[in-house]
Amino acid sequence: MSKHTVDLTIVGSIGIDTIETPSEKRENILGGSVSYACAAASFFTHTGMVGVVGSDFPKAFRDTWENMNIDLEGLQTVEGKTFRWSGVYHENMDNRDTLSTELNVFETFSPELPEDYKEAPYLFLGNIHPALQLHVLEQVRNPRFVLIDTMDLWINIAKPDLEQVIGKCNMLTLNESEAQLYTGEHSLMKAAAKLLDLGPEYVLIKKGGNGSMLFTGDDIFLLHAYPLAGFKDPTGAGDTFAGGLMGALAASGKTDKEAIRQAMVQGSIVASFGVEEFSLERLVRLERDEIENRVSEFKEMCRL
Ligand code: AMP
Repeated sequence: MSKHTVDLTIVGSIGIDTIETPSEKRENILGGSVSYACAAASFFTHTGMVGVVGSDFPKAFRDTWENMNIDLEGLQTVEGKTFRWSGVYHENMDNRDTLSTELNVFETFSPELPEDYKEAPYLFLGNIHPALQLHVLEQVRNPRFVLIDTMDLWINIAKPDLEQVIGKCNMLTLNESEAQLYTGEHSLMKAAAKLLDLGPEYVLIKKGGNGSMLFTGDDIFLLHAYPLAGFKDPTGAGDTFAGGLMGALAASGKTDKEAIRQAMVQGSIVASFGVEEFSLERLVRLERDEIENRVSEFKEMCRL
């Protein structure tokens, strides 16, 4: 049987997380940016994961990804412990504190792409050190569309590296507070203008439960978040959104603004399911028609 080639390559962190919310504490659950992003993308396109786990990584977690048809050829397993992260959410669930971060095998991670992944037309550089994101970018042959995500840590300690890699990508995504931190601008209009000056054609600013904004040199697209009556765990929502967006864009085979807007809606809806439960628990039993139904419902809500 011939192997189906990967259309989208995603690199990022893989973590074993411990998460506490005001109502529940869950220990040693599957997390990490690439885990959420690949799970979301897998609803739309054949996705290859690039990441690292230790020899302690549970088989059940690997099975979760395999059952979602995620290609794991780019997953490295090395002697040692998997990256671990723990965090606690505040009463409002908007803010959280990191309690601990153990880098473990992540500390010496050097992402190496299988041949097949180097040819993938779509690439998502999930949240890892920008020097590693650059290392991945140097391996891919001729990507049609590259999205990069980052976080406050790298803005604070590795800005020159980050600047270099952002300039080589088509789209940059970050949270509202990270856009403000990066540029020193409170206004998102001004922050986006400065971020566009770094080179990407698109800047996508995530505002958590308040949706997202897509900026180009000439216009802005505003996307509301799907209104949920309740949710259990917002961890990884941004990665799920961006992974779903890239999966849907890869499935469309396009890279134009209209296709990106449509893909943002798909990504946002997948993320709305993801936060309903911890880890990938909701996504593993999510069906494609549930996504499409919620997309239709959402479009009706936004109709002018
Ligand atoms: P988010 O909610 O988007 O910040 O993503 C949360 C995920 O990021 C968790 O599942 C963690 O395992 C992972 N994570 C936490 N800290 C880091 C870090 N410093 N670098 C990479 N991934 C991280």
